[in-house]
Order: sequence, then structure tokens, then C-alpha cells
Amino acid sequence: MASLDRFPSTLAQAVLAAFLGLCIASCGTFTLGDDSPTPNRSVKRRVYVNDKAPNDSLRSDLILRGVKFVLQPNRSYEFALDSTARTGDKLKLFYFKDNVPDLYKTLDAASNGTREVFSFVSDRAAAQFFMVQLSTPDGAQAISSLRHVSLANASALSSDTLQVRLMFIRNLRNFPDSASKAAFAKSLFTEMAKIYSPLGIVLQGSIDIIEPLAPALTFPFSNTYVPLPGNRAPNHAHLYIVDSISIGDPASGLVGEVLGFAPREVVDIDNHPESRVLLSGRIKDPVSLAITATHELGHFFGLRHTVSTKHDFLQDADFSNVEDGFTDTRFCQLDIAFAKQAAPVWLEPADTKYCLRIADNSCSNLQCDLTNLMHPVDCGSRNQIRLSPQQITFLKTNLASYKH
Ligand SMILES: [Zn+2]
Repeated sequence: MASLDRFPSTLAQAVLAAFLGLCIASCGTFTLGDDSPTPNRSVKRRVYVNDKAPNDSLRSDLILRGVKFVLQPNRSYEFALDSTARTGDKLKLFYFKDNVPDLYKTLDAASNGTREVFSFVSDRAAAQFFMVQLSTPDGAQAISSLRHVSLANASALSSDTLQVRLMFIRNLRNFPDSASKAAFAKSLFTEMAKIYSPLGIVLQGSIDIIEPLAPALTFPFSNTYVPLPGNRAPNHAHLYIVDSISIGDPASGLVGEVLGFAPREVVDIDNHPESRVLLSGRIKDPVSLAITATHELGHFFGLRHTVSTKHDFLQDADFSNVEDGFTDTRFCQLDIAFAKQAAPVWLEPADTKYCLRIADNSCSNLQCDLTNLMHPVDCGSRNQIRLSPQQITFLKTNLASYKH
């Protein structure tokens, strides 16, 4: 079990006030937007590969509406239900064709003694969304007897090399010429390598300078997809440095300086338009930006925050995922802002997609798990760089799953 930490009651009120702001700022946004080019928005619920979070509110959608996930080509997966008593279930696996589910195959279950397991491989040419629907002999009545839902790589995978391409986009006030860009990239890669090295991950960084004479770009943060110039490099995760990142929707309640953001679990490592990390070029400190970049790359490869924020709940439309499911990360009980809610009014504007990182120095009283890279709050300490052994294994497994 993850350990619990409660704030002393004397601190609770002051900390809560600070955290209500931070929760709004920590992951995602309330804004609704056109989420093109991501397809299949009518299937709301998503399962993340190798995710350990509870997912215990997925079971209704699994039967009635379908749940979606991304499969990498030629990788083997196991979709499993924690259930020993079920027999006769079938799993209908669909891919999306012009955003419409198209039946791919119907699978029979195998039991491994503790779980009902459905095994499959994607034979599609590229990574893409699939969806599944469980067909049970007892129909929707089975919902109450379903338990934890998971999707995992079927074979052991692990990778220790990560290639990143740093894309300098248009004019950047802090890096006006190619020499300053190269110098900053070198410092950034050095600092990122310091974070990755204890994890056993080797970073290989390279840069690309895109339209350096074009006007500086203030990237509007929202759920609306905004294209950026530049060509992708195969097998690289791409980090885009823009001049600054703004809160696109003033009604979102977001405050502060956006340092960077990324989706959680991208579609593929290198080519999908939304498979990218955005970084603010206003951050000249390579140590600070390296922490933001590696935190966002953690999300990029599927890592959750160690404790969920409101926006994490919104992203999943799932208030069961209070924490990451790892048994060796600490769970910080952060009062109502992070608690599971019985009446989740926040669920109304669902479909948030991005985890972002905003500078905030108001959390000096927070003492819980502040050294973990995937803590949701950036407190400016410059030492939030540690991952637990389970987080490291997850990161290396998913990195290997994405590489091709
Ligand atoms: Zn985050």
C-alpha cells in the first residue's frame, strides 16, 4: 500500500488555499475544445498500457460503451480482468476507421488462475487507437461482478536509451542565435542526463532550429490542437521550445507561468501530431527546464502523478484513480482538492488531455514526496528528480514498447 501523509490541521487551511490554485494548475484544463486530430471522442474512457491505477470505474463502459487504448504495431498485449469466476466472456476488439469503430476480431478468454486474460497483437502498420467491448453471457448484469481492468505488454520489454530531439521554434528572445541555442541545448541535455543516469537511462539529445527568423510564438495552452512547424525524426521524442506558453482560455481558472505540458501516454514516440512535449523558452535555467522536460516525458510515456489532481480526474473521467497504483511511491492526502468526490460536478467538461507544469513557490509547507519527479506540484526546489523502482521499470517498459 502507498503510505499516507496528512497535513497537520494547523496548516490545513493555509495549504488548502494554496493548493486549490495549484490543483487547477497542475494537470489539464477545464476548457472544452475541438480535440482534432485525436479520433473517436465518443468513446470516453481510456485504458493506459501497463497502468497500475485502480480503474475500478471502467467496468460499466467496458460493457456498455467500450473503452479505448493505443496499441503499438507488432506488440503483444494482454487485456485482463481481475476475476476468477467468469467464464464464457468474449472481448470484441475494434480499430477505428474514419473515427468509426470497425470490428477487428472477437477474442475468447483464458484464465491464468487469478485473472481472465484476452491476448492480442496489433497487425496495423502504425500505432493507433483501438477499443474493446466485453460481451458477457449475463449482459449488463455482469458489471457489478467485474473488477480491475488492465492492459499490459505481454512480453518483458525494457529499454535504457532515450533519443530526444529539441526543436527551437521561431524567434526566441532568450536564445536569439544558433550559438545560444546550441549552448542551452547542451546544458539542458547535461541536466536531463543527470536525472536519467540514476534510473539507468542514457539520454541522446540532438537539436533542430525551425524558422528562426519568424516572429516569436506565444503558444496558447488549451485542449485545442495547435500545429507547429518542423519535421519529425524517427524514434525520437520531440521537445518543442516556444518563446512562451500562455493560458489560452482566461475562463479556465489557470494561473501562473506555464513551464511545459504533454499528453499522458502519447500515440507513438515520434510521428503523431500530438506526440510531443511543449516547453517554455522563458525558462533560462537549464536545471529547472530539465526537471520539467523529464517530468513531461514521464507523462509522455504514460506515468501518472503520484497523487491525482482535479485535472487528472478530469483527464480520465475517472475518480477512482486517486493515485498511480505503484506500491513504492508515496501517496499524499492533500485534503479535498485531491480527494475522491461522490458528486463529481467537475466531470461535466471532460476530455482534458494535457498535463502541464506551472511555476509556483507557494508550497513551502508541503513536505510529502517532494523529491519525486512525478509529484504534481512544481515547488521550484530543483530537486524533484527521483523515481521509485516501480516507476523506473514502468518507464523503461513503455519506452521499449514505443521504440521501433
Ligand atoms: Zn505533471
